[in-house]
Amino acid sequence: MSRCLLVSNRLPLAYNEKAQDFSPSSGGLVSAIKGLDAKKVGYDFEWMGIMTDDVDSEKINELKKIPFGDLRCHPIVIPKEMYEIYYNSFCNNVIWPLFHYERSMVQQCDKGWECYQKVNELVADAIIQEANEDDTIWIHDFHFFLVPGFIKLKRPDLKVGFFLHIPFPSSEIFRELPQRKEILLSLIQCDLVGFHDLSYLTHFKSSLSRVLGGNTNLFNDRKWGVYPISIDSQHFVALTHATETDVFIKRYAEQKKGKKWILGVDRLDYIKGLILKLKSFEEFLRRYPEQKEKVQMVQIVIPSRTDVPEYQDLKQKVEQLVSSINGEFGTPTYMPIHYLFHSVSEFELSALYQLSEVMHIGSRRDGMNLVSLEYVVSQKERHPGTLLLSEFTGAHSTLSYAVSINLWNIEETAEKIKVALEQPEEQRRREMMSMQDFLTRYTSSEWARYYLRDLNRKAPPIQHVLSLTKDGTFPWMKDLKGKKILFFCDMDGTLAPISPYPSQVRIQQDTQELLKELSKTSTCQFVIVSGRDMDFLQHQFIDNNYKFPLADCHGAYSYTPETLEWSNLIPHDSTKWKEDILDILKLYTSRTPGSFIEDKGHAVTWHYRNSPPGFADFLANKLFIELEESLTSLPAQVSRGKKVIEVKSLHASKGFFVQQWLEKQEYQPDVIIALGDDTTDEDMFEYLQNKSEIAPFCIKVGDEKTQAKYFIKDQSTVKLFLENFIHSV
Ligand code: UDP
Repeated sequence: MSRCLLVSNRLPLAYNEKAQDFSPSSGGLVSAIKGLDAKKVGYDFEWMGIMTDDVDSEKINELKKIPFGDLRCHPIVIPKEMYEIYYNSFCNNVIWPLFHYERSMVQQCDKGWECYQKVNELVADAIIQEANEDDTIWIHDFHFFLVPGFIKLKRPDLKVGFFLHIPFPSSEIFRELPQRKEILLSLIQCDLVGFHDLSYLTHFKSSLSRVLGGNTNLFNDRKWGVYPISIDSQHFVALTHATETDVFIKRYAEQKKGKKWILGVDRLDYIKGLILKLKSFEEFLRRYPEQKEKVQMVQIVIPSRTDVPEYQDLKQKVEQLVSSINGEFGTPTYMPIHYLFHSVSEFELSALYQLSEVMHIGSRRDGMNLVSLEYVVSQKERHPGTLLLSEFTGAHSTLSYAVSINLWNIEETAEKIKVALEQPEEQRRREMMSMQDFLTRYTSSEWARYYLRDLNRKAPPIQHVLSLTKDGTFPWMKDLKGKKILFFCDMDGTLAPISPYPSQVRIQQDTQELLKELSKTSTCQFVIVSGRDMDFLQHQFIDNNYKFPLADCHGAYSYTPETLEWSNLIPHDSTKWKEDILDILKLYTSRTPGSFIEDKGHAVTWHYRNSPPGFADFLANKLFIELEESLTSLPAQVSRGKKVIEVKSLHASKGFFVQQWLEKQEYQPDVIIALGDDTTDEDMFEYLQNKSEIAPFCIKVGDEKTQAKYFIKDQSTVKLFLENFIHSV
C-alpha cells in the first residue's frame, strides 16, 4: 500500500499540560479521520500536524514513536508565539467568520497574515522533508490554504490534495478578503481540491473566475470535486450496543418519565445558531402551552475557545436565554431546558441520541455537521427519532429526509418542532432507516476512498496523445532528414500568442526568425492555414516577404506565392446566411461590454475575451443556442473557440481546405504534419487522420480534448519544436 500523509492543524493527540502527557484530541475532523479503515481506503496513513515549541522536546520525540491507533504521527514544531498569532488572529478572526458569513466578526491584523504565511511555509517545508516521491499528500482545512502553493513551488512533482471542511462562501463575500488572490493561487496548484457540498464548489469556481480573471481554460474541472464527509458508522452502531451506553439509557429513561426530548449537541460557537435555536423552542412553548411538561430540550454545549471574549459573551447570552426560558415556562416539576456546558463521553452521547425523539440542529452555517450523521446512525428501528436540520449545513444535502429548517424564521421553526414531534411512527421509520442505510454504506472510509481515488486518478490519455519531450522533439523527428514534408500550420495560438484584440496579434521576433529559416528549407512546404481574413494575412506574411502558401478564413480563400494571387475555393453564394446572423451578433454586442464582431468574409466571429467573465459567459451560452437554432436550414455552422463564437460557411473549413490542397497540388509529400491549437484545427486533424493516404503527424497546442495524436503544452513551447524541426529536416 502506498503512503498517504494526512496534514491538519491538530494532531489526533493533544498535549495536556496538567497531566504532562498526550490525550486524544476532540473535534469533528479528528473523529472522522481516526475512523478511516486503511485497508478499505487502500493507503497507509500517517499524520502530520502542529505541535508548539513550548512542549518538552523529549515528549515530542516520544510522540513520533507512539502510534495513535494504527497511525504514525509526525509533529511539526512551530514557535508558540507565531502559532498563537497565526491561529487566533488569522485562522479564527478572519477566515473562520468570513467563510461562515459572519462578516461583522472579522478582525484583520497585519501580523496575523504574516504569521499565517510563515506557518504555512514551515508546514510545507516539513512536508517536503518527510515526503517520498510516490507519497500522496492530503492537506486538510483552512489553516493551510497556502501550503499547496509552497509545496508545488519547490516540489512540483509531489501529488498534493486539499480538502476544505468549512463552507466556501459566495464569491460576493470571498472577494472582500484582502488575501483572496494568494489563497486562490495556492489552491489552483493542487491536484485535487475537495468540498463537502456542491454549493461550496460553485462559489469557489465563481471566485476563481472573478478574482483570477476570465480565462476559464486555466481551470480544469478535474482539479475539484464534491465529497461530503461521513462518519465511522460501524463505531457508532457498536456504541448503541455497548453496556456502558446501556447504563446511561437506563438512568435517563427513568428521569425522562414519558416526556419527549429535543436534543442539541453543539460546540460553543456563533456558527451553531444556539440563540436562534433557543428562541425557536421558546416560541414553540408559547404557541403550544399544552406541550409544557411533555417536551423538554436537552442542550449540550461543548466548551470551545473559552478564553476569547466573543465566545465568553456568547456563552453568557446563551445561559441568560436558557434561564429566562426556564424561568418563564418552568414549574416545580418541569424544567423546559436541561443545559450542560461540558463534553460528554461517547457512551453518554450515544444514549442521548437514542433517547431523544428529536435532534435539533440549527447552525447558521456549518461546513458539514457530523452530529446530525451520528444521530441518524444511532437510531434503532423500533423507535426512531426525527432530525430537524438547518438548510445551512453541508449535511443537509446528504440527509434528504431530515425536516429542513431556516432558523432565521423563528415562527416557522417553532412549527417544524411541532411537526417533528408529531411525525407518524411509520414515516419516521421509513425515512430514518433510509438515511441510515445510506450512511452504513457511505462511511468516512468510503469518503476518503473516493477522494483519494480521484486524486490519484491519472488524466485519461487522449487517444495515446504523446507529449513533446523536454528537449523539444517527437520520436518521429529523427527520420525526417531528406524527406519531402508538407506542413499545415495554424496562426493564432500556435505561431502567435492570443491577444485581447485580434488586430494587435503579432508573430514574435524569434518565431519570425524561425519562419525565415523554414522558408529556406527546400524539403519542407510550409502552409499557413488560418481563421484570419485576407488583409491580415497579407500584412503578416506577404508584406514581410514570406513565400508561404496561405489559407484565410479557415480555407475559404487560398494564396499561391508563385502567382501572387488569392483564389476563392468555395461557392460565392455561400454567405447568404450572413445578414441575419450579423443582426443577432450586433444585438449581443450591444448588450455585452467589451465584445466585438470580426467579419472575415466567409465567417463572422464574436469575441468576448475582454468582457466581464460571468455575464459574458452567460450571454455567450445564450447566443450559441440562438445561433444553432437560427442556422438549422442555412449553409453555415456555429462553433465555439477560446472566448469566441464563430459562424462560418459550411465549406470554410480547414478540413475542406486541406482536402482540396492535397487533391490539387502536384507536390507529393512523404510526410504530412499539421499543427494547431483551436477547435477549427480539429477539422484539419480529422480529415488528415481519416482520409489522407499518408499517415500524418497531427499536433495539438494546449491540453484540451483533441483528435491529434501529439501535443505541445502551450504556444510558447511551439518555438522550441520549430527550432528542432528545422534542424531535423
Ligand atoms: N462530540 C465531542 N464531545 C461531546 C459531544 C460531541 O467530541 O461532548 C463530537 C461529536 O460526536 C462530533 C463532533 O464532536 O463528532 C462535532 O462535530 P460537528 O461536525 O458536528 O461540529 P464541529 O465541532 O466540528 O463544528
